[in-house]
Amino acid sequence: MAGCHAMLVWGGADSQPICLGSDVALGLHGALTSEQDGAVCATWNRLLEIDSVSLFPSIHPNEAYDGALWNVFELYHVQSCLVIPMKTEKCQRLGSFVVFSEKGPSSLRHRMEALKRHAYMAELAIEKHRQEHETKLLAQQDALTGMLNRRTFFEIFDILLDEARRKDGHLSVLLIDLDRFKEVNDSWGHIVGDKVIQVIARRLIDSARETDLLARLGGDEFVVILPDTDMLGANQRAEQILERIKEPFDLESTYRFRVTASLGTSTFPMDGTDANSLLINADAAMYFAKSLGRNRRESSRPQIRQSFIDRQTISREIDAALENGEFSLFYQPQVDADGCLRSCEALIRWNHPKRGFLLPSAFIPVAESTGKIVEVGEWVIREVCRQVREWLDHDQSPVRVAINISPSQFGHRLPEVLRKYLDEYGLGPEWIEIEITETLLFEHEHTALFVLTDIKAHGLQITLDDFGTGYSSFGFLRKFPVDAVKIDRSFVNDCETSSGRSIVSAMLSMCQHLGLPVVVEGVETKAQHDFLVNEGATLLQGYLYSRPLDAKTYTRVITEEGGVKPMLV
Ligand code: C2E
Ligand code: CA
Ligand code: CA
Repeated sequence: MAGCHAMLVWGGADSQPICLGSDVALGLHGALTSEQDGAVCATWNRLLEIDSVSLFPSIHPNEAYDGALWNVFELYHVQSCLVIPMKTEKCQRLGSFVVFSEKGPSSLRHRMEALKRHAYMAELAIEKHRQEHETKLLAQQDALTGMLNRRTFFEIFDILLDEARRKDGHLSVLLIDLDRFKEVNDSWGHIVGDKVIQVIARRLIDSARETDLLARLGGDEFVVILPDTDMLGANQRAEQILERIKEPFDLESTYRFRVTASLGTSTFPMDGTDANSLLINADAAMYFAKSLGRNRRESSRPQIRQSFIDRQTISREIDAALENGEFSLFYQPQVDADGCLRSCEALIRWNHPKRGFLLPSAFIPVAESTGKIVEVGEWVIREVCRQVREWLDHDQSPVRVAINISPSQFGHRLPEVLRKYLDEYGLGPEWIEIEITETLLFEHEHTALFVLTDIKAHGLQITLDDFGTGYSSFGFLRKFPVDAVKIDRSFVNDCETSSGRSIVSAMLSMCQHLGLPVVVEGVETKAQHDFLVNEGATLLQGYLYSRPLDAKTYTRVITEEGGVKPMLV
């Protein structure tokens, strides 16, 4: 169409009009694509506002026309103009299809239908382009935080590594994992958990430099890649990030939160030359930071790497052990002041195919840190229930069995798991007792009361284990529904000294005042026994009476030796 110029206009993200495409022959094109001229800009905004197909027949300085439109039309010799608004299927405004003519309106009017079809085609094209753009962005993003997702992160990470290699430079990796985040989710629910993740992600984004690469790798784990940064630089940034993360914040203006994180760093090229090994080493350092008490940073080092590899190996082997029946339970008797068997504690052992017989200290901490303890713990509960059932079926007069529960095994599911196996083996709650530690109560302060009350409502007994070693406060004894207290064996060792004895008597007398029975573990000598009985200990456990026994030997003790009867002294 001679003398006609078409142009697509749409609103940009900053709501400045953008010219998508225009006919270069039109002088306006230059004005549009160069720096914004105030009059042109106003004109486009006006064109974008026009909501229905509109033909401006003859442009005269007329009150009816917009001043801005008129100025531009006059400037570029536009005689008439057709504006066709472009919309998405859902009627969202996409922009305007505008045709300017250097002649009167009749040529535009004649070709109206054809021009509408052109506008429609343009509409489809823009819509498709927009959708593709959005899909691409979504595919690169983590929906919760807007950070890069794993896949895109690895793509860019490889590019940055190539660059570091080429420049013979450094690059550091910071791996950040929030501390006790499971606790936030368990106590406040996932919606609040997600909000906390968003706040932390925002802080990481805000404290990043333009060249940094950030991503959420999943759950509460973030990674920051610092190009051109050596170990010292990485440590500095790590400190800043940890400081920023632990600043308190309010959610829904009701709750004040404060989260901390553990952070591991690794640096190219000394800690690894590819993405995978750098991340594994940063991960190992991060776990090491957690094991040292959390809320701190650690850099990758060879020893850390080795212990990490060992951990990974044990963690894999635990799966096989559960499958191949390599775990077994030993039972250690608990006796009363007269030496009569009253209850026992189930203690796990691992008959490892290569490393032989393993005590819990060789694998429980790893199982706890990798989360494997949940399955191992469930196996213990089930095995105890199965064993008690067997003893009952064979009239072997069992006594109640205490089961150790790890912090990471503790949660809403625990009461359900306990009930499930008691039901499965047709046992009443009087056969099981759980041992929890003060550390567990401390870590699960918000959920503990709820979970323990649920467990108690089903008639199971709860003993507070390792009493005196942790955050130890008698406040816990009042706050939580515990039935008994178990004084840790370290205090019994100290009974040789008079100050040690004073501490134990003070603990015993305090518990008596609270009406709580006290179990004392680690009793090894007759002198300790006499002292403890004299001070009012209710139950005693230790090598003096019996070591932990395998199921077969323990079964002989409860049957052949006649069940509940004096074992000693
Ligand atoms: P714990 O709950 O404090 O268990 C008591 C530990 O003291 C047991 O060690 C027991 O063998 C040991 N012991 C008992 N009497 C004496 C004594 O007179 N002298 C000395 N020196 N030690 C004594 P064990 O069996 O090595 O278990 C160590 C820890 O492993 C346990 O400490 C417990 O925290 C954990 N554990 C054991 N079995 C399980 C389990 O099934 N699940 C979980 N989550 N943890 C377990
Ligand atoms: Ca115990
Ligand atoms: Ca203990």
